[in-house]
Amino acid sequence: MEGFLVSKTLFAACELGVFDFLLASERPMSAAQVAAGLGTDVDGMERLLSACAGLELLGTQAAGGEVLYSNTDMSRMYLSRSSPRSLFHSVEYYSKTVYLCWNYLTDAVREGKNQYEKAFGLPSEDLFEALYRSDDEMIKFMQLMNSTWNVCGRDVMTAFDLSPFKTIYDLGGCSGALAKQCVRAYPQSSVTIFDLPKVVSTCREHFVSPTDERIFFHEGDFFKDLLPEADLYILARILHDWTDECCVELLSRVHQSCKPGGGVLLVEALLNEDNSGPLTAQLYSLNMLVQTEGRERKASEYSALLTTAGFANVETGSVECVPILVTHLNAFLSR
Ligand code: SAM
Repeated sequence: MEGFLVSKTLFAACELGVFDFLLASERPMSAAQVAAGLGTDVDGMERLLSACAGLELLGTQAAGGEVLYSNTDMSRMYLSRSSPRSLFHSVEYYSKTVYLCWNYLTDAVREGKNQYEKAFGLPSEDLFEALYRSDDEMIKFMQLMNSTWNVCGRDVMTAFDLSPFKTIYDLGGCSGALAKQCVRAYPQSSVTIFDLPKVVSTCREHFVSPTDERIFFHEGDFFKDLLPEADLYILARILHDWTDECCVELLSRVHQSCKPGGGVLLVEALLNEDNSGPLTAQLYSLNMLVQTEGRERKASEYSALLTTAGFANVETGSVECVPILVTHLNAFLSR
């Protein structure tokens, strides 16, 4: 019942810049100092900092009758904007977009469809037209995607030995964060980020620099355009956006283009076979309902999609992610 109070406390502290301010100040600060620095009400800030301390997002110490606040190791690493492992943009997206869609969860369950129309006044026939309703929204979505892989991209890329695959296409590669982790882990490989034209141009402009070697780009629609031949196709967090029919269509297209001996790597959160958990995947599946046309699935369901599309030899691996991400990403390799 009260879980959202915790989420909103975290959202407000990030949005106001509490963790960044405490990082920059380099010493513990009182609520009055933080309020003055961030231009907020002192009493409001006092309560927010106190709740953050209760959530163990901040540490406290008493000094001369005052409470002084400082970042914990966890908030310094994951909640300040400048950290290389920052989840700031994920928090921002959850606050500004996901939370608004979840306001209509009851309607989503009744109607069995996403809630962009009610949340943002947008038709949602074309899912990614709705998600990318402005350039600003598209960049925010790309930052959200980016932040996950800055935390656990290497673990995902090394869950299987992908060294035999030299030519790799990351279909729906978005901001290129996974592509960067992939070329870092496999120095003999090159990765081409395949995505919608406006995503690719934003990726080139804001996310991948010319100094990122062995990363290439391909603009296209993976449901319509010919997929170039490759040894390995990565589909990370793609299939969970789509219906079973669309998934089989996409995987069949991948299968037709795949070089002999090549494969596909799926990266998705997995539900237990008896639907008993994990809770995160169960909640993500509701999130897919309010936001997309898809769902989270069980290992057997992904295997069935892969085999229907012509793939065999399905292997499953799993990745432990850091606790704050509370995600259960799993990878499937199929040839
Ligand atoms: N794979 C990335 C990751 O895990 O960070 C991004 C996943 S995001 C949920 C889905 C991606 O698929 C977006 O980058 C989106 O632009 C891309 N996409 C959606 N429809 C597409 C299409 N028809 N053709 C190519 N890319 C598409």
